Amino acid sequence: MIRGVSRLLCAGKIPSLPGNVGLKAHDPEMHGLLQEELQRQVTGLELIASENFTSRAVLDCLGSVFTNKYAEGLPGSRYYGGTEVVDKVENLCRQRALEAFRLDTSVWGVNVQPYSGSPANFEVYTALLRPHDRLMGLDLPAGGHLTHGFYTPSKRISASSLYFESLPYSLTPEGLIDYDGLNELAQRFKPRLIIAGGSAYPRDWDYKRYREICDSVGAYMMVDMAHFSGLVAAEEHNNPFEYADIVTSTTHKTLRGPRSGIIFFRKRVTKGKEEIHVEEAIHQAVFPSLQGGPHIHQIAAVATQLKEVNSPEWKAYVKQVKSNAKALAKALTDGGEALVSGGTDNHLLLWNLRQHQLTGSKLEKLLDQAHITTNKNTIVGDKSAMAPHGIRLGTPALTTRGLVEKDFETVASFLIRSAKIAKDVQKSAPSNKLVDFIKALDGNTEIATLGKEVKDFSLQFPFPGLENPYPVA
Ligand code: PLP
Repeated sequence: MIRGVSRLLCAGKIPSLPGNVGLKAHDPEMHGLLQEELQRQVTGLELIASENFTSRAVLDCLGSVFTNKYAEGLPGSRYYGGTEVVDKVENLCRQRALEAFRLDTSVWGVNVQPYSGSPANFEVYTALLRPHDRLMGLDLPAGGHLTHGFYTPSKRISASSLYFESLPYSLTPEGLIDYDGLNELAQRFKPRLIIAGGSAYPRDWDYKRYREICDSVGAYMMVDMAHFSGLVAAEEHNNPFEYADIVTSTTHKTLRGPRSGIIFFRKRVTKGKEEIHVEEAIHQAVFPSLQGGPHIHQIAAVATQLKEVNSPEWKAYVKQVKSNAKALAKALTDGGEALVSGGTDNHLLLWNLRQHQLTGSKLEKLLDQAHITTNKNTIVGDKSAMAPHGIRLGTPALTTRGLVEKDFETVASFLIRSAKIAKDVQKSAPSNKLVDFIKALDGNTEIATLGKEVKDFSLQFPFPGLENPYPVA
């Protein structure tokens, strides 16, 4: 407690305020939901590749008085008073972010204010492009992200395709980036920006190749490392900073921090004879072009997480994430399952369900009932994002809970069993539709048995951030 306040409270000199009532007493309904979600997370197996379990220290920052503070502008140049402490917070975060990726501060700068990964990407486009300039990103069904220019034949979906002209590149039939195809398209389309990085690509990236293609058409090179930034920080993945002009990331996936976004930029980039002041353009795009007051509680939480990322233990965690992904891939393929590209170089794998004539949407629903959380995902050749033939699996979250290779063999056995049950359920359903599949899951005893085994297994592992104030009910 703040010096002096406790004494005054005891002496009855400071009246208690209504705002001092905790969540449980103030809003039992919301407290109940929080408990429910906690139970779900603790008792299940979290295999969503973009999720993780953040630390108690990060949760402490998120639930702190930093959330009360407005601080439009940048440290040292704000539009509000009372920012002497939050300036220190934001500067610490910037310093730790640059350290985490070993960046030379005379060349690279960073903005830690983006509210999340999607705004960070749009802020880059706003900074570097004019409306209707051209950009290229990996197609969403091929593992790219919505914000990399996604549109369908009938509709421009992402703002990155609404306000800019985008063209997707894709994968080879083996599931690897089609660099030759990207080059051919780029020579014709002449984009001003090419984006590397994606949400469902299990291999590493050839940044040198991207740079060559960008240079041949005069495009900026951006890498969205949202998924694998934790691996880059640990030097366990190719380093995008060697080649890129701009690198964006989320902070809540393999970095294991709070939900937030971050933009790294080369301060100056030359385009032909022109020198572009990227630093100024990025800061301006974040505020005031697209955002208002920065979320200081989030920035404090990112800074605290980056302290962990800069510690020697981080490399061990990331090595384990990768090793677990390989173990999961091996156990699945040894069990007769197919993976896109045959395996993984990072934290995720894409399970190809075509041989089972099963969609990822159906298996995802069944896995939910067995307390295994995954997401359906398109794989090469899929036409529909709602009924794709893949399931994306990631190891970062369960590695945080302490699972090692042998545990992932058990996880693989649960997954293989689930696919077998799903095939039987599909046979018993009156039609091939998802609604009938879901109805047919009702009362299935094999799923109930599997779900119980999954719960017992999950509860053997600790859960970070669990002690007070969020004990399992
Ligand atoms: N970029 C990539 C590659 C992602 O995978 C994601 C999220 O999944 C994002 C950007 C967007 O991040 P957010 O959901 O924080 O807006």
